[in-house]
Amino acid sequence: DLLLDVARVRRDFPILDREVHGKPLVYLDNAATSQTPRQVIETLDDYYRRYNANIHRGLHTLADEATAAFEGTRETVRAFLGAADSREIIFTRGTTEAINLVANSWGRANLGPGDEVLISRLEHHSNIVPWQLLAGELGFTLKVIPVDERGVLDQTAYRDLIGERTRLVAVNHVSNAFGTINPVAEMARVAHEHGARILIDGAQAAPHQALDVREIDADFYAFSGHKVYGPTGVGVLYGKAELLEAMPPWQGGGEMIKTVSLEVPSTFADIPHKFEAGTPAIAEVIALGRALEWVGQIGLELISAWEARLLAHATEGLAGIEGLRILGTAPDKAGVLSFVVDGAHSQDIGLLIDQLGVAIRTGHHCAQPLLSWFGVDATCRASFAAYNTPEEVDVFVEGLERVVGMLR
Ligand code: PMP
Repeated sequence: DLLLDVARVRRDFPILDREVHGKPLVYLDNAATSQTPRQVIETLDDYYRRYNANIHRGLHTLADEATAAFEGTRETVRAFLGAADSREIIFTRGTTEAINLVANSWGRANLGPGDEVLISRLEHHSNIVPWQLLAGELGFTLKVIPVDERGVLDQTAYRDLIGERTRLVAVNHVSNAFGTINPVAEMARVAHEHGARILIDGAQAAPHQALDVREIDADFYAFSGHKVYGPTGVGVLYGKAELLEAMPPWQGGGEMIKTVSLEVPSTFADIPHKFEAGTPAIAEVIALGRALEWVGQIGLELISAWEARLLAHATEGLAGIEGLRILGTAPDKAGVLSFVVDGAHSQDIGLLIDQLGVAIRTGHHCAQPLLSWFGVDATCRASFAAYNTPEEVDVFVEGLERVVGMLR
């Protein structure tokens, strides 16, 4: 039997020792941001204590050390994603910036009137709005893959919608609002059959399942550091080398150039540096590398099996609460539990359960088109990570029963 040593995992997270309103913290808002193990905190601290320096440009020892650690992380990320080449790894501020990079660089070079981009109703706003903005400007058409009543993407509709005008399919790997796991490898195959590219928003997949961008055959894959036990302010865009090489720069500045002239056109650095203008989040990138190593030491197979157990336990617990409806009942689901309760506002549930030390999220989860299709404008969402325990799930379920009782 696959069993995570959760007591040992928890010892790595100093924040789990704190209390909230006099109660032990039960942190179930991991889909928004995960907590940070001491190894990652120490990596940030160590950087500023010992070798804080700008990268790539310096010849002094500190600059060399910082550059080596920064570029070493590119290799760590390459291995984490199963990419062929570390030049295919671009550091961004997060998933949002990674998607905006693809939209503004690849999109502007490849999309125009008559073209179509396919997104889905399951998307986070960050994989909707950049395409809406660009469609308004460039005149291509945005089409939407529908979901069924379980929150599963309709694959038949996908096959009907995709066609010879489709240039790009942009979908998430795992839905942050419902936890639905999408069959992205199959969707990539269909996209490629039609000569389209596929961008996968992996913000919710990276922390919860082993990834292999080559097996998926993703053209672009994005994720955020702060959801995978790393720091805020850093994320990753993976892109196939031949695509990245052909793409124009997006942001201009230092680091991304070969030569700059006021008389003839400036020339640009090779990938990945072409897409990393300015001083990056050096400390955070290095600490992201440490976070991915931490994840690797436990193993994503173990983490995802553990979270599946927590999800099953919580789903069972919530089934006992009258008038509670779970939104998102896909057979293939990550550790995300979205629900509404008759006669109790999500906001009130969130506020009251916080008084019991339990952190869940309430609201639209940056997925308004999805929630509105389900006829709600907010849900409560509990989401799990490697350090959560069945006992915490019990505290959550009992707390929810109490809170709902108070509100009705
Ligand atoms: N996509 C998904 C599926 C997400 O869950 C999130 C974060 N909630 C994002 C994109 C955006 O990530 P970030 O805010 O880190 O850029």
